[in-house]
Amino acid sequence: MRILVSNDDGVYSPGIHALARVAQGYGDVRLVAPDVEQSAMGHAITVRRPLHYHRTPIEGIEAYRVDGTPADAVALGTHHWDKVDLVVSGINLGLNIGHNIWHSGTVGAAKQAAFLGIPAIAFSGPVDEDPIDYAVYEPYIREVIDLMLDIGDLPLLNVNFPIAPKGMRWTRQSVRHYDGYLIPGEDPKGRTHYWFSEEPREQVEEGTDRWAIEQGFVSLNPIRLDLTDDLRLERALRKTQRH
Ligand code: MN
Repeated sequence: MRILVSNDDGVYSPGIHALARVAQGYGDVRLVAPDVEQSAMGHAITVRRPLHYHRTPIEGIEAYRVDGTPADAVALGTHHWDKVDLVVSGINLGLNIGHNIWHSGTVGAAKQAAFLGIPAIAFSGPVDEDPIDYAVYEPYIREVIDLMLDIGDLPLLNVNFPIAPKGMRWTRQSVRHYDGYLIPGEDPKGRTHYWFSEEPREQVEEGTDRWAIEQGFVSLNPIRLDLTDDLRLERALRKTQRH
């Protein structure tokens, strides 16, 4: 079995090494990831300049760094390695739940694999003052990979870890809670600048990814490539046929 490991925090992030160690238990592992952090790049791809692919062995694992986005890294990694069976992305330093799925580079890397017909899992965890003990997550990563292989028709799975997991839950994406807004500040020369900031805005809904994390569960959210709003499409069809 061939497993390609990627992320958006860069090839030297501790999270990707934890994932690669677990993946090694399943077969051949290759690590292909951006050379520098590419968080919040979503599914961006590089089209106005060429990309480079350099070997950079890490902890005895065959690894490559790419001067591009997470999606670029997965595109190049699968270009250079035939018949990849599974792509795992992460473990991201920061959760990717709710609206964050839209801008996540961790999910972008997994999504690139799903576009290419390769099953993929995005893993994200919390950011903490202290270094994260990834050993805590390893049994859960194994369980998720086993589930993915067992179920067989899960093209894309978004997984998030709370600080101390007490189990796993299947979830849906929480969309009612948008916490991306800008706060102005001032630089040393008195020029105004802006930072994206986060603040909880609404109660969490039971059964969502955000709810699972708040309850201390690992969140397993199957996501899809078809963004069509089926309900609205149905309604629009019915309405326009009537009038
Ligand atoms: Mn990141």
